[in-house]
Amino acid sequence: MTSYSDFHRRSIEDRDGFWREQAALIEWETPFTQVCDYSNPPFARWYAGGKTNLCHNAVDRHLKDRPDQNALIFVSTEVDKEIIYSFRQLHAEVQRMAASLQALGVKKGDRVLIYMPMIPEAAFAMLACTRIGAIHSVVFGGFASVSLASRIDDSQPVVIVSADAGSRGGKVVPYKGLLDEAIRLAQHKPARVLMVDRGLAAFDKVDGRDADYAALRQQHLDTVVPCTWVDATHPSYTLYTSGTTGKPKGVQRDTGGYAVALAASMKHIYCGNPGETYFSTSDIGWVVGHSYIIYGPLVAGMATIMYEGLPIRPDAGIWWQLVEKYKVTVMFSAPTAVRVLKKQDPAYLSKYDLSSLRALFLAGEPLDEPTAKWIAESLGRPIIDNYWQTETGWPILSICKGVDDSATKFGSPGKAVYGYDVKLIDEATGTEITEPGQKGVVTVEGPLPPGCLQTVWGDDDRFVKTYWTSVPGRMVYSTFDWGIRDADGYYFILGRTDDVINVAGHRLGTREIEESISSHPNIAEVAVVGVADQLKGQVAIAFAVLKDTSKAATTADALKHEGEIMKLVDEQLGAVARPARVRFVSALPKTRSGKMLRRVIQAVCEGRDAGDLSTMEDPSALQQIKDLMAPK
Ligand code: ATP
Ligand code: MG
Repeated sequence: MTSYSDFHRRSIEDRDGFWREQAALIEWETPFTQVCDYSNPPFARWYAGGKTNLCHNAVDRHLKDRPDQNALIFVSTEVDKEIIYSFRQLHAEVQRMAASLQALGVKKGDRVLIYMPMIPEAAFAMLACTRIGAIHSVVFGGFASVSLASRIDDSQPVVIVSADAGSRGGKVVPYKGLLDEAIRLAQHKPARVLMVDRGLAAFDKVDGRDADYAALRQQHLDTVVPCTWVDATHPSYTLYTSGTTGKPKGVQRDTGGYAVALAASMKHIYCGNPGETYFSTSDIGWVVGHSYIIYGPLVAGMATIMYEGLPIRPDAGIWWQLVEKYKVTVMFSAPTAVRVLKKQDPAYLSKYDLSSLRALFLAGEPLDEPTAKWIAESLGRPIIDNYWQTETGWPILSICKGVDDSATKFGSPGKAVYGYDVKLIDEATGTEITEPGQKGVVTVEGPLPPGCLQTVWGDDDRFVKTYWTSVPGRMVYSTFDWGIRDADGYYFILGRTDDVINVAGHRLGTREIEESISSHPNIAEVAVVGVADQLKGQVAIAFAVLKDTSKAATTADALKHEGEIMKLVDEQLGAVARPARVRFVSALPKTRSGKMLRRVIQAVCEGRDAGDLSTMEDPSALQQIKDLMAPK
């Protein structure tokens, strides 16, 4: 067996040979003539000349070998439902949805915005779009009118598919009113709205615009809608980044490269085999939901679980119950969800037979050591941290289990994944850092591998200007994250480049300070931001959530904790990193996908306008910080 470093090296040095081999993992209608057309950097055209279809590879292709195997397993603890679709049934439902969209006028290249809860019809709608060459744009169902309106204006959909309501923690969350309001606010007006009525919330119908899915489906029970073969470079979808650092960017994904990248990742990274079950706890509104609830598992011929509900309802054992019941082999979640479980009784994990599970993958935010240790010990299974972005669509850093038997290291999402020519760049000089243990910006030398963003939707200029820097002869993609690489090739992500604090000339990553503070036994979670300071340029301020709040019930207790934390940081990182203040709150402001909104905390601390708050989960968390920082 060749070592992983040889495997990785070949993917870079013999790029076309490597990706030509991977391309055989999917089915093509017309073979490609060129593996990678990079004649116009940084725009890469993967598998130019080839024609394929994402839905064909996710669904139709499996009718031959596994028509009656599970494809989509829908579980809702919100409405108490469990429905299993075999590949044959999924094929039928996708065609009914595709026929309904066509009846509403959707054609190849048209955009269809999907604003839906985690229900099977959302998956049908995504697959139906790629089936007919329409471009879907899924907007997370938790967003309200203003965020939705800006995404409607950006993607300009012909049709919007939605539902009467979602449900969260047993409470009905009506969607239609928000959608109507968003359409009213938007400049662009979709011609039609296709409504899935779950019978959860009554809603107003707009005559001539709103169509009822149940009725349309009934008319198209047997309509055959063949897959439209599209160019490998035809866009399959657009998707907005999480908006952690500012205005969300509309990532545009291709078809052929994406299908190949996902198929290859299922083989080399996730080790999921046809006929097995994959369970990703994300939401279809995020990139993990696109790649690893819908397309990745299905392309690999696996069943995928689509779960509507909380991880702790009816109790904190629900996920593990599903793992046992459906013999899940691969699971994917996020550190934020694990932290929710960590507050519950760990006995829930040992209650079920988890022997089918080979590994739990986590991604989306730094996996702190206490959380990683807790889940690894409670689960007794390998925990594999993945680092990637909406932009890339699949991991940049991971341990590629299928081709690499090296161990994971706590705090590291692993090594550069094959296909990614990852380089650390010194921000000040723009030169590559080759020495181990040195900090730099994590970049990828162009071309980005298959499956990554083609461009920013409708804005090539923004794509080039936002992400790329030219170095003589080359173009380099920036992740805007800061990292270090150790001597064994493992990377450690230190935070976002705009989360760097400059204290009296010392550049510090907020993540390092947070890690240090988290090692205090009574700290559950912490956010560190840099705040303008007349003397030092910037100082670090920490907002921490305590595990046991009774221990900081009085001001004296809080001061004692603050003192202990400062001492800890002094010892671990040095006095320059010591936060100027540590304040205790009951929750921290995060995006709906669980990412810490440091830019918002920082703005509040500096008395500035907090900017776009549309992706924020819980406004009361920010209010606590405002109250603490208000001049007394
Ligand atoms: P926006 O780009 O709109 O500001 P965002 O960057 O949060 O939002 P995503 O694409 O969802 O949008 O998140 C990608 C980012 O999440 C990465 O750039 C990185 O900062 C962080 N991230 C993802 N996975 C990991 C990980 N395993 N470890 C550390 N950080 C991670
Ligand atoms: Mg980002």
